[in-house]
Amino acid sequence: MADEIIIGLEIHCQLHTASKLFCGCDTDFRSDAPNTHTCPVCLGLPGSMPMLNKKAVEYALMVAKALHCEVLSECEFSRKNYFYPDLNKAYQITQYDKPLAENGHILIEGDNGEKKIRITRIHLEEDPGRSVHMGSQERGRYTLVDYNRAGIPLIEIVTEPDLRSPKEARRLLNKMRATLEYLNVFDSEAEGSLRVDANISIKGSNRVEIKNISSYKGVEKALLFEVTRQKNVIRRGLTVERETRHFLESRGVTTSSRSKEEENDYRYFPEPDLLPLQVKSWVDTIILPELPDARRERFKTRYGCFTEHAKTLTGSKKTADFFESVAGNNPALASTWIADYLLGELNYRDMSIDSVPPSHFTDLLNHLATEAITDKSGVEILRAMLDQIAEGKPIETPTAIIARLGLAKTGGDEIAGMIGDVIKENPQAVKDYYDGKKEALNYLVGQVMKKSRGRADPAQLNTLLVSRLTKEE
Ligand code: ZN
Ligand code: MN
Repeated sequence: MADEIIIGLEIHCQLHTASKLFCGCDTDFRSDAPNTHTCPVCLGLPGSMPMLNKKAVEYALMVAKALHCEVLSECEFSRKNYFYPDLNKAYQITQYDKPLAENGHILIEGDNGEKKIRITRIHLEEDPGRSVHMGSQERGRYTLVDYNRAGIPLIEIVTEPDLRSPKEARRLLNKMRATLEYLNVFDSEAEGSLRVDANISIKGSNRVEIKNISSYKGVEKALLFEVTRQKNVIRRGLTVERETRHFLESRGVTTSSRSKEEENDYRYFPEPDLLPLQVKSWVDTIILPELPDARRERFKTRYGCFTEHAKTLTGSKKTADFFESVAGNNPALASTWIADYLLGELNYRDMSIDSVPPSHFTDLLNHLATEAITDKSGVEILRAMLDQIAEGKPIETPTAIIARLGLAKTGGDEIAGMIGDVIKENPQAVKDYYDGKKEALNYLVGQVMKKSRGRADPAQLNTLLVSRLTKEE
């Protein structure tokens, strides 16, 4: 029997509000100098008083509602005490025994079909500042501290240990990211806007916590490493230590870290400068936008998308928005060309879908819909267009690219001529075909394709070539 893997996640997401959680400082700090978005409150100066940002509470409630959580009739903030240079007050304002919301769930694509992952709790807290290690973290000579991030609103979403593989963990994060994007409360592209702590164990063994993984891909990688490491420990008859480990992204490994804080080391107590919150009735007045699952179903019914396409297209808000902006009269073609071609090409170039002008993509779809070009030419045009965007060059329309490269589909006479030439030039292959060697036909089709530079319709070409060879036999 396979060892059962048990994974639970704690996901920290920055809420995309205009100002910080307890002060008026601007949250748009990423391109600014260190320590320029600070004030007495977020610097934790003595005597400064926190004032709760209503928008952050609203955003957190939207997330709670979207994840089917129960909002508590009263929640409160607590101080979590610990010392670290980036935590200037020597405590973090968070929520402890009375969080904002509990007992929710999210649906993911599990290893064996759709699966419900339970959400234990969602709470609001402030982000600490950021330590900038000069040199590497292990051997750096000194560390600088930037408090621009201190006080940025975070929600911490804690799942039950319902995940059974690193892949399921990745799928959960993707679904979570999409949900937060659809709610418009989160900027997934901002650096460090999502950080994950993962608990992982092999059934019957101790649990290990991996701290502060800061990329989507990193979570799956760190967990895969841990699965192998823990299984090896067990195979050698040793015990998996109950410990906290860090993921070193650059080396793809986790390493044991000395810190062994226990819950009671933090000496939580209610934050005396903030009143308890009673927001349960507020959540009923919140109207949520359409979320990924609902949009996926709508894409199937309204546009006739295949299930797989509908899942892919609604997997991110930008992709779904792009699809709807180009679907027009050709939704089937649009879904195929986005899901099967465009996304892969974008991924390969590390580009975002919003860099593609919808009007250009619609132009391409129109040429494909009228069969003015072959699919092969369509891909060539798409690549040419994306390369121009990636290189920051003026972007040609597909119509212009077709004209410049001569990609319009070839007509009957031109193909007939090319077929004749290919038959003349490849007597051996023709003989092989008559001798019943099936692959000879593919070879001949390939030769005509090559001559047409991809402008011949392969299916049509096949039929034409067979009838010509039959005639000449
Ligand atoms: Zn501030
Ligand atoms: Mn936290």
